[in-house]
Amino acid sequence: MNAAFSLAGRRIMVTGANTGIGQGICVSVARAGGAVVGVGRSSMDETAALVKAEGGSFHAVHCDLGDTAAVQAMFGSIWKEQGPVDGLVNNAGIIRRADAVDFSVANWDEVMDVNLKTTFLLCQAFGRHVIGEGRKGSIVNIASVLSFQGGIRVASYTASKHGVAGLTKLLACEWAAKGINVNAIAPGYVVTNNTEALRNDPDRTAAILARIPAGRWAEPGDIGDATVFLLAPASKYMHGTTIPVDGGWLAR
Ligand code: NAP
Repeated sequence: MNAAFSLAGRRIMVTGANTGIGQGICVSVARAGGAVVGVGRSSMDETAALVKAEGGSFHAVHCDLGDTAAVQAMFGSIWKEQGPVDGLVNNAGIIRRADAVDFSVANWDEVMDVNLKTTFLLCQAFGRHVIGEGRKGSIVNIASVLSFQGGIRVASYTASKHGVAGLTKLLACEWAAKGINVNAIAPGYVVTNNTEALRNDPDRTAAILARIPAGRWAEPGDIGDATVFLLAPASKYMHGTTIPVDGGWLAR
């Protein structure tokens, strides 16, 4: 494998590793030679089997990413007990749908906590350890095309994903000179649990598909392979960018 695109010898932490895009990222990381530390609240056995089928290693860490104290304790104990982490992928995320006039405080807080606050706290923990020990590292935050667009009926999700893009820029400005690359990926429409409600609505599904120049929805592996690029040496001069991986959706 071209060394510029290899993750050999590197340990990559992926949140939301049990399913969907997170699972796709774990498989892509393993194919690139990286060791995976999967973080989540549900069983990650399926992902572990897929990673092992690629000849990779998978270590599961159980944590509710909506629990601030648990998130902070989790990162520190992984580093202390198992050694350094070279890459962090903040993938876990949730979405709640309601008209803006009816949007509840609970639906606002829950989404902002998992999608934005936990993303920041894990970046902060990673930055403290990597900078503190004089190491190098990479962060990839999973944003959304709704980091650029407004969307509809997803107020907290859109706000959180605009926040992820802004946070990515802020951290890149602070940490680029300290050896950490911070970037994000903005997936378009991907076949996962997150989009089940959309895919169950024939009118919305047809309208979305008609707008995607690539003529298909994304599969998790499409996002996984782009994530590997942002974790690997090939992207060493990239800082603070949010790359759409959307089949051309934003180009329309
Ligand atoms: P998904 O299949 O619903 O997966 C979401 C992941 O986040 C799951 O692993 C889920 O775990 C985890 N998670 C959520 N809340 C958690 C919590 N409190 N503690 C621990 N884990 C938690 O959706 P996905 O499409 O793969 O989404 C992954 C990321 O991509 C999200 O950030 C999403 O916003 C983003 N994204 C998705 C799309 C798309 O079209 N699918 C487009 C743009 C961006 P459980 O299974 O245990 O709930």
